[in-house]
Amino acid sequence: MAQNANNKTDVVVLGAGIVGVSAAYAARQRGLSVILVDRREPGSETSYGNAGILSSGSIFPLNQPSLFGNLPKYLSNRHPALRWDVGWALRNPDWIARFLASARASQTKPRALALRGLIKASLKLHREWIVSAGAGKRIRETGWLKAWRSDNVGAAKADQTALAEYGIKSELLDRQAISALEPGILPVYSVGLLHTETASVDSPGNVTKAYARMFAGAGGGIRRSDIKSITGDGDGWRVALADGDIRARHVVVALGPWSPDLLRPLGYRVPLATERGYHREFVPNASRPLRRPIHDAENAFLMTPMENGIRVTSGVELTARDAPSSYAQLDEVVPLARSVVEFGEPVGEVWRGARPTLPDSLPMIGPAPRHPGLWLAFGNQHIGFTTGPATGAAIAAMIAGAEPGFDTSAFSPTRYL
Ligand SMILES: Cc1cc2nc3c(=O)[nH]c(=O)nc-3n(C[C@H](O)[C@H](O)[C@H](O)COP(=O)(O)OP(=O)(O)OC[C@H]3O[C@@H](n4cnc5c(N)ncnc54)[C@H](O)[C@@H]3O)c2cc1C
Repeated sequence: MAQNANNKTDVVVLGAGIVGVSAAYAARQRGLSVILVDRREPGSETSYGNAGILSSGSIFPLNQPSLFGNLPKYLSNRHPALRWDVGWALRNPDWIARFLASARASQTKPRALALRGLIKASLKLHREWIVSAGAGKRIRETGWLKAWRSDNVGAAKADQTALAEYGIKSELLDRQAISALEPGILPVYSVGLLHTETASVDSPGNVTKAYARMFAGAGGGIRRSDIKSITGDGDGWRVALADGDIRARHVVVALGPWSPDLLRPLGYRVPLATERGYHREFVPNASRPLRRPIHDAENAFLMTPMENGIRVTSGVELTARDAPSSYAQLDEVVPLARSVVEFGEPVGEVWRGARPTLPDSLPMIGPAPRHPGLWLAFGNQHIGFTTGPATGAAIAAMIAGAEPGFDTSAFSPTRYL
């Protein structure tokens, strides 16, 4: 863990989720001395509990024009796609107004193009890194199936056309084709859209850990400690940890849903909301395997085969990050998942996590506006596992004064700070 002549590390990365681990590894690849700090093992929080989809097609965030048509059913607070906390909404009217403003049709193309560039760059890195990290067996190039129980060919075709406009391939499937693709599932779906360029992994937490080991193997330092504060220190930074300080020339804030906490004392009020979600895993039936992630379009949940069982993930719960858990959405969708995939008893407990989301559903990737040497890398919403590597690599490039390799202008922190 090299330090330079001033006893300062070049870069300290705060947060060892997929974004922080990626930033640390990419900075190390550029020859910088790097320390990665987290209070937990790498990949133990949001980057552990997600659905593990490396999605080529997630370029249209939740706040797109179709949201307005869905609002009546979402406002009822009964749909599995979205539950929202009235008290939270009343305390955060600005976030909601900006989130809805970003759903306007005029906002679709610029955001889709920006996310397309980020995703493309990130999938390339994932496919390289997962092999270099010795975790190649964890990636499945089997695509991702979005499926409709009703005969909604129109919705599937509309999705296909929208994706094709951005050069993203998919295949339209009927009931028979779905059965041929997934012979182990029950024939409940009439229509499917297979995202053929999408991959998935069998344990996003273990993939993140493998990338962290690759970083350590390349000479990076990993420190496990609670981060208390970051303060300016001459021409660099002092990061106060529960068990000591680190001095660094550059600090990268990659704390996912916790990122605003340490930035507030520096005068940055980050409008980050948390779209919480849950998962539970179940013992798979070996004679009726699930081969790829399936997104149940009408009921807004996902089932995917993981290392430890079939993981069922829920839709969005819009509430405070640390509010008590509510299992209503998961309780509603688990029986629906069971009507598709035959699985047994639960494995382990229910997991809860928080998708970190800015009002325009684009991440912040770039320098903090008023503090040289402070870098922001968070807000990767529903697709942070997919986009973590390119988010981190872009930050590392910026620190090194190099070009990130894709257009990062839409992700500039100055749009909110
Ligand atoms: C239900 C669900 C399903 C999802 N499915 C997918 C999917 O299929 N594909 C996809 O691409 N994305 C998916 N996502 C989104 C994705 O998981 C996140 O966007 C991504 O994991 C965010 O990564 P991160 O590194 O920013 O945050 P995190 O992984 O949360 O990392 C932040 C780290 O900061 C650390 N930390 C915070 N505060 C402190 C402190 N004070 N001191 C020390 N350490 C601290 C935490 O311990 C944590 O390790 C899903 C999310 C959810 C909730």
